[in-house]
Amino acid sequence: MEQTIKSSKNTENTNVFYTVAMRGLVAFPKMVMHFDIAREKTVAAIEKALKNNEKIFLVAQHESYVENPKANDLYKVGVVAEIKQVLKLPENIMKVLVEGVYRANLVRLTDDGDVLRAEVKRTPTYSRAKIDEVEAEALMRSIKDVFERYAQFVPRMPKELISSVMTQDDPVKLFEAVVFNCSLNYRDKQTLLEESNILNKLSVLFTCLSSEIEIMELESIINEQTRNNIDKGQKEYYLREQLRVIQEQLGEDDGEEVFNYINDIMALKIDEKSRDKLLKEADRLSKLPSASQEAFVIKNYLDTVLDLPWGKYTKAKISLEKAESILDNDHYGLKKVKERIIEFLAVHAINPKIKGQIICLAGPPGIGKTSIAKSIAKAMGRNYVRVSLGGVRDEADIRGHRKTYVGAMPGRIITALQQAESANPLILFDEIDKLCSDMKGDPSSAMLEVLDSEQNSAFRDHFLEVPFDLSKAVFITTANNVGDIPAPLLDRMELIELPSYTAEEKFHIAKEHLVPKQLKEHGLKGTQLKIQDDALHDIIAFYTKEAGVRTLERYIASLCRKGAKKIASGDAKRVTVKVKELHDWLGTRKYTSDIASNKNQVGVVNGLAWTSVGGVLMPLEVIALDGTGKTEVTGSLGDVMKESSKIAVSYVRSIADKYNIDKEFYKKNDLHIHAPEGAVPKDGPSAGVTMTTALVSALSGRKVRCDVAMTGEITLHGKVLPIGGLREKTMAAYKAGIKTVIIPAANKPDLEEVDNTVKNAIEFIFAENLMDVLENALTD
Ligand code: ADP
Repeated sequence: MEQTIKSSKNTENTNVFYTVAMRGLVAFPKMVMHFDIAREKTVAAIEKALKNNEKIFLVAQHESYVENPKANDLYKVGVVAEIKQVLKLPENIMKVLVEGVYRANLVRLTDDGDVLRAEVKRTPTYSRAKIDEVEAEALMRSIKDVFERYAQFVPRMPKELISSVMTQDDPVKLFEAVVFNCSLNYRDKQTLLEESNILNKLSVLFTCLSSEIEIMELESIINEQTRNNIDKGQKEYYLREQLRVIQEQLGEDDGEEVFNYINDIMALKIDEKSRDKLLKEADRLSKLPSASQEAFVIKNYLDTVLDLPWGKYTKAKISLEKAESILDNDHYGLKKVKERIIEFLAVHAINPKIKGQIICLAGPPGIGKTSIAKSIAKAMGRNYVRVSLGGVRDEADIRGHRKTYVGAMPGRIITALQQAESANPLILFDEIDKLCSDMKGDPSSAMLEVLDSEQNSAFRDHFLEVPFDLSKAVFITTANNVGDIPAPLLDRMELIELPSYTAEEKFHIAKEHLVPKQLKEHGLKGTQLKIQDDALHDIIAFYTKEAGVRTLERYIASLCRKGAKKIASGDAKRVTVKVKELHDWLGTRKYTSDIASNKNQVGVVNGLAWTSVGGVLMPLEVIALDGTGKTEVTGSLGDVMKESSKIAVSYVRSIADKYNIDKEFYKKNDLHIHAPEGAVPKDGPSAGVTMTTALVSALSGRKVRCDVAMTGEITLHGKVLPIGGLREKTMAAYKAGIKTVIIPAANKPDLEEVDNTVKNAIEFIFAENLMDVLENALTD
């Protein structure tokens, strides 16, 4: 029930009501209207009033943007209204239907934090002063005139309403019919509400309606002009004018946001079709309540699109000399790789518009692929971004999700461009061999489109919806294992393989690059922390086992951290890391070096394998036991090894006589072949020669030379076929103290890649067939 308060100062009655602060809306007595509410206090006011079966006080805010209005933010005159209907919409929005009952002055506003309540005093809607009939008639005619013009602009205005206005002869009814049905600025409406004298009301109404018509006329002229002549400038003008109108209608600030969006969209360097699409979104935004989920989605979308580097290019200029010095300064060694890159840059320098040249830097982790890509970006004067493709299995990772999905985002390509802040960056696609495909779509086909110079000038991201031009970007990819790159992608790329580093190279990289880099990162001067050369050698040999230098760099960083701590805590002014104290700095050694056994044995052969950490010496063991002809293979090589073992057994049967082997061995003996675990080799077949040699040794009882290592694939007829990774394998043999390495004759040209230190220390035997291998490996 309405609560009546007796004011202590005067005897007039006031009532207290739950109160709704209206944004951009003004109610009138007798007017039926509906509006949406979302603010908690407003929702609470409606709910409480409904519960207590009370009326509600509706009063407009001076400024629509004020979220939490105080008494000063509200007009002093409002309307007490009856709640007719309430509809709950999603997202905590309520639609409320009310009917104004009487006008009331706001006496006092109370806010308990949850809900607004107002003490109000009823005032008569129209003053009872006598009116001048002639003046009233004149005003009524004028209003009917402007209303008629107004109706022309509002095509959906009901005919009955127009005729009832035109024939109305009661000033109050005329006023109400016009005010309740025309959309006027809320400030004007408030003035109309506050005025009591009906003649004054009519006169203000006339002015408001006239200016409203002026705006509408202007709008229609602009519309007309736009239709006739849509050139860019005019469109901009049109939009700004339309926006001005929207702003006026909404109260300045709601429109300001949309206005800014439109301004930004107009400033984008973007094609007309895309611009239209974005403008359409801004237009939709202007029509939505700013707190709605949909408005949020559109704002997020526009923010993302506007943040992209449309038409922004860094000045790409290539000086080959500078490029060469950048590459040399940043990287030790890698002579061949640098040459290939300079060639690539030369092509770009001659023809900057060249398309579709994509380099793939391939090799094990930590050998500088990423850092070479960064240097290339520097040399080309382009911004650098890295996109990791490891584990990407969903096409949407590349191309994004439609913006209507909850939490939708653009894909990795568009995100990368956003980070790059230019439309012609160098994008590094890291680990392209780790792209997976499953039922969620094939990301590699999306990648194909990205890399294809024919298609990527209009790359489509699902989130973005408008095409983005990727054709000015330069792409570089990296892969650990070329064999895992999807073939259609591999087809498009020019492969540059980076070999793994020898210990000597690692030492130079550490000394010349990693140590200075880490010192700098830890804020240390070269004089403050020194790492002895021997200590570096020791770390390389006993703390790391890797093709690249990543773990090595981590250990150096760890030394710097510990050194910095010592210096900072005042324990020492400068520190030197000595080899004999390495144990204290880094803990116990992690690896022992692969040293070949120094005893010739039966059935044990030094194989050489190529693994993800570089080459390794891998002894292979075979024993022959009395049995029934079973072959057992254990260890890390699995299926490939089993196949090789079958070939080996057949071959050994064919040469059994020559080595005094019982021809029936494959029936009488069980063979157990074992390749130790450890790093998993990538090339099982190259253990063919090793296995056959071990088998012949085990069956004939002849020992195998412990200072010989070998690698090679075999055929059934005993031919030795070429293998990969010669450089890494021979390096491993050298480190293990091997004197002689047997390699396939077909690999002879590859010796050129082998490190000189290795070539000087090792004797190479080139095997055409297995006889060459056996003759050199078995003792007499
Ligand atoms: P990848 O991308 O091949 O895994 P990174 O480029 O991340 O390897 O290299 C690891 C670290 O080793 C980086 O700090 C890099 O600068 C350094 N590095 C690798 N190779 C060299 C080299 N030849 N000269 C100087 N630093 C190198």
